[in-house]
Amino acid sequence: MASRVAIIGAGPSGLAQLHAFCEARKKGADVPELVCFEKQSDWGGLWNYTWRTGTDEYGELVHSSMYRYLWSNGPKECLEFADYTFEDHFGRPIPSFPPREALFDYITGRAAKSDVRRFIQFSTAVRWVSFEEERGTFRVTVERLNDRDTRTEEFDHVIVASGHFSVPNTPAYDGFRQFPGRIMHSHDVRDAQEFTGKRLLVLGSSYSAEDIALQSRKYGAESVTISYRTAPMGFEWPDGIEEVPLLREVDGRTAHFADGTTRDVDVIVLCTGYQHYFPYIEDSLRLRTTNVLYPPNLYKGVFWLDNPRLAYLGMQDQYYTFTLFDAEAWYARDHVLGRIFLPPREEMEEDIAAWRAREAELADPLEQIDFQADHMEELLKEVDYPAFDVQVTRDAFKAWEHHKEESIIGYRDRAFASPCTGTMAPLHHEAWWDEMDDSMSTFLGDGRRRDEFSASAAPRPA
Ligand code: FAD
Ligand code: NAP
Ligand code: MG
Repeated sequence: MASRVAIIGAGPSGLAQLHAFCEARKKGADVPELVCFEKQSDWGGLWNYTWRTGTDEYGELVHSSMYRYLWSNGPKECLEFADYTFEDHFGRPIPSFPPREALFDYITGRAAKSDVRRFIQFSTAVRWVSFEEERGTFRVTVERLNDRDTRTEEFDHVIVASGHFSVPNTPAYDGFRQFPGRIMHSHDVRDAQEFTGKRLLVLGSSYSAEDIALQSRKYGAESVTISYRTAPMGFEWPDGIEEVPLLREVDGRTAHFADGTTRDVDVIVLCTGYQHYFPYIEDSLRLRTTNVLYPPNLYKGVFWLDNPRLAYLGMQDQYYTFTLFDAEAWYARDHVLGRIFLPPREEMEEDIAAWRAREAELADPLEQIDFQADHMEELLKEVDYPAFDVQVTRDAFKAWEHHKEESIIGYRDRAFASPCTGTMAPLHHEAWWDEMDDSMSTFLGDGRRRDEFSASAAPRPA
């Protein structure tokens, strides 16, 4: 059995991996030594909000892309941990679309309960991962940021859980150099009140574009123009938001679009997505992909084809998040523990090709949801993750797609049933469009503060 496992990142995926090993140990398994390296000073990954943008106190790229007033954009029932339900954490049912702080509390609540913090080296950035053919092990070079101490350690398995919604994709358009206002990527948005009274141009037609357009207008932007490349989102936007075809150029403050129309704008926000960026992994081990549901060269969406002792978690475009990460983490764990054996390379290659061929044929979001649910279920059926009703989550996601079409400002005012407990969620006491306060205490409506929940019972990093 493997003796040492490195896990890179302590976001939801890395925490799922640590937790999966703890669960096996609880049931008596002999678990290898686990070392998790996390470059931030706390856990939670993207959910660990920071006011910083650009580089952090050590000169590292700021990881988090989250901003104030971020509410879950999908029903929480579709990401509920089957072994730690929302009711387990909050002590009662809560509404289906929680704000960031409540989800951070939930994710880190399970991690605190299983005491995985002891495995994590915080403020420690992975600098290089390579494979030593002769020894058959990985060499992992890390830097401890507070004293710049660099060292290299040997591992039998490496699990990459460093996320892929952190390094911006930033296209340029003619006239950007002369634009007399701010041009920024959604990764650097922190507080929509920065845009109060301003005329915004948002580029992109996916989740960030939708969310930043809506919340900017909600917090007082004068107008928001959303420019799409391939297709408009096509929602019925509230007054003050409109969608137009692709930007051609900006001339001074004037944006020119492909249909010949123009708008004068004060700020441009590029909601143009992210790069899968792994500068710390040697070429032959490095995943190269765009944001798709089934990236190339990953068997089961997890194992690096050329060397399956290297695993990647959470590298898919994401309808499913925390439960998919759990399924991947349990599966990766069982491979490390010698409970799951992978087939010969040729078979793995064929399997990846079949999934990717199916992805290429998917017609719409409803088929994409089923595709990702099928992928998740294929993993779940091989592992001892507690059962939950996946069909309930498929149906919830599909209903959610329809709710968005019915009302883009109203879809968060809906309630879903838990796939784990069957409990129907209550409704939030305010409509999302009118709720300006995204704090957890207001959300829970009972005046409880964050530090009264289990997550913060965990010791803070030194
Ligand atoms: P991350 O959360 O990105 O965590 C990766 C961790 O790896 C980070 O802590 C990082 O510091 C660390 N790391 C990176 N590089 C290194 C290194 N070299 N050395 C050491 N550590 C490193 N999902 C939902 O389910 N619901 C939502 O409402 C939702 N909202 C989102 C909003 C935004 C703006 C974005 C960008 C994403 C959102 N997501 C949402 C999706 C999000 O991807 C997942 O929820 C989740 O955070 C992914 O977890 P992860 O652990 O794979 O990656
Ligand atoms: P994304 O889903 O990858 O979408 C990228 C968008 O950028 C696409 O619409 C793409 O257009 C567009 N684009 C790329 N290059 C472009 C160019 N050169 N010119 C114009 N447009 C270009 O990225 P995302 O929207 O940032 O979402 C990332 C993740 O964050 C998702 O998982 C999402 O769920 C999450 N998120 C969640 C919330 C929330 O929960 N509240 C909020 C924001 C984001 P094409 O369609 O033409 O390719
Ligand atoms: Mg992680």
